Amino acid sequence: QSQELSQARIDYHAALLALQEHGTRMVCTGKMHTDRICRFDYLCYCTEAEEFVFFHSNSSFMLPNLGPRRFQPALLDLSSVEDHNTQYFNFLELPAAALKFMPKPVFVPDVTLILNRFNPDNLMHVFHDDLLPIFYTMRQYSDLDDEARLVFMEGWGEGAHFDLYRLLSNKQPLLKEQLRNFGKLMCFTKSYVGLSKMTTWYQYGFVQPQGPKANILVSGNEIRQFASSLMEKLNITTRGGEESAAEEKDEYFVVFSRSINRLILNEAELILALVQEFQMRAVTVSLEEQNFPRIVKVISGASILVSMHGAQLVSSLFLPRGAVVVELFPYAVNPEQYTPYKTLASLPGMDLQYVAWRNMVEENSVAYPERPWEQGGIAHLDKEEQDHILTSKEVPRHLCCRNPEWLYRIYQDTIVDIPSLLEALRAIVKTRPNLKKAKPASTVHPGRVREPQCQTSVQATNEAKLTVSWQIPWNLKYLKVREVKYEVWIQEQGENTYMPYILPHQNYTFSENIKPFTTYLVWVRCIFNKNLLGPFADVLMCRT
Ligand code: UDP
Repeated sequence: QSQELSQARIDYHAALLALQEHGTRMVCTGKMHTDRICRFDYLCYCTEAEEFVFFHSNSSFMLPNLGPRRFQPALLDLSSVEDHNTQYFNFLELPAAALKFMPKPVFVPDVTLILNRFNPDNLMHVFHDDLLPIFYTMRQYSDLDDEARLVFMEGWGEGAHFDLYRLLSNKQPLLKEQLRNFGKLMCFTKSYVGLSKMTTWYQYGFVQPQGPKANILVSGNEIRQFASSLMEKLNITTRGGEESAAEEKDEYFVVFSRSINRLILNEAELILALVQEFQMRAVTVSLEEQNFPRIVKVISGASILVSMHGAQLVSSLFLPRGAVVVELFPYAVNPEQYTPYKTLASLPGMDLQYVAWRNMVEENSVAYPERPWEQGGIAHLDKEEQDHILTSKEVPRHLCCRNPEWLYRIYQDTIVDIPSLLEALRAIVKTRPNLKKAKPASTVHPGRVREPQCQTSVQATNEAKLTVSWQIPWNLKYLKVREVKYEVWIQEQGENTYMPYILPHQNYTFSENIKPFTTYLVWVRCIFNKNLLGPFADVLMCRT
């Protein structure tokens, strides 16, 4: 992985000519700055001014051409966090003629993806905000392949997990601070700017208290495809497929511990109790003691993952299907309000089970009022405010990121009350599907039912019949489906309610509640295995 950008690979003279002649060219996707990704030819970056530059020439173009709306508030989000005002992207404009008076540009020959990492020191942020969005942005644009160059513009150093970012492409990622090593003016031959937000599932509480995103667009399948790709690059083989009887029996649970703060104070006792309860071997890991590939290997074979609430729990995306995630919360912290890992485990098709446990006993908690504020200290606050926090039994809903009551409570250490934890666990683990047999459920949806028809007849002045029939969806003949059902909605024209029916066959005659000389609107759709809904066929107008 070479740091230098081989200028030999491009014809410098030709590139310079192209830049002078054509200037910069931009075409973007997305209606709003929050869903926009832009592709550029010859986007430049001035390392002295720390600004991107768009060179106008007779043949440059800029779509969308927003005029000054480009600054309201920005052209696009440079990180995957929605509309964060420290993460905006824009560029300065210059006529291409100005190049004559500027330092000689250095051209970057690689196809480049330019973005901001959001918080590269926190593992949850690394996966959720950066690695997954980068991975799928690269899959969205096929020239962002293994040879693509990543450029991180947020201005941080490598951070604790830089090796993970390195797995995304064969080229060494560049940091903002390194760009100056290449010269005063860098021009990216072909680049994409911005990240897909399609894979993110959580919002951190900048404008409303934290919680799952309103419209989650990712399923367990995409998370697992990403996880497999990463594991392949880390040379970790999973134990799927044919395994020996010995391996099959060798079930274990993992305790992912934090060794600096938010400690489990009776970890040994907890582990003994879990070994006893589940008759499984215990493995402990922590970010301080094992390297990350080792941790991934361990987690990818685990039946249960137990951990205090915290970023390390994002590693549950490497758990095998059917595994259980056990998240522990310190005293006065309501698990329902902090659900990044619950949301992850509950994504459709993630096939993980999730249990939250909360310390309800204040005496089992050790707090650190004297620590610095960012580790939950409260000594800097008024006496009154301190007292309020000390006597509160639950942190009220709050915004990110500096709420002192939240930080005080979340950085407590905890003595886990073993009986109450086991009770919470027994309810879940009893019903656990056999780990090794947990197969992904089918996600193939039915097509529309075909040739829907209705026939009507009037029996008497107050008696009528409505027969609805249809053909199976076209894709059904190629599928093995456990259960095929049909749903029919009948609405009397002009009414605003309808009657829904679930039916096993391809026709049915309705006579109850059917009136003579009345028009009914009828919708039909197919359902596989109770929850895979197909689309409705075109509405039928049926006149009795
Ligand atoms: N961390 C850790 N052990 C500790 C404390 C923190 O491994 O004892 C890791 C944690 O998993 C995260 C990073 O350090 O990746 C920052 O932790 P912080 O408490 O700031 O964030 P949180 O885990 O609450 O998201």
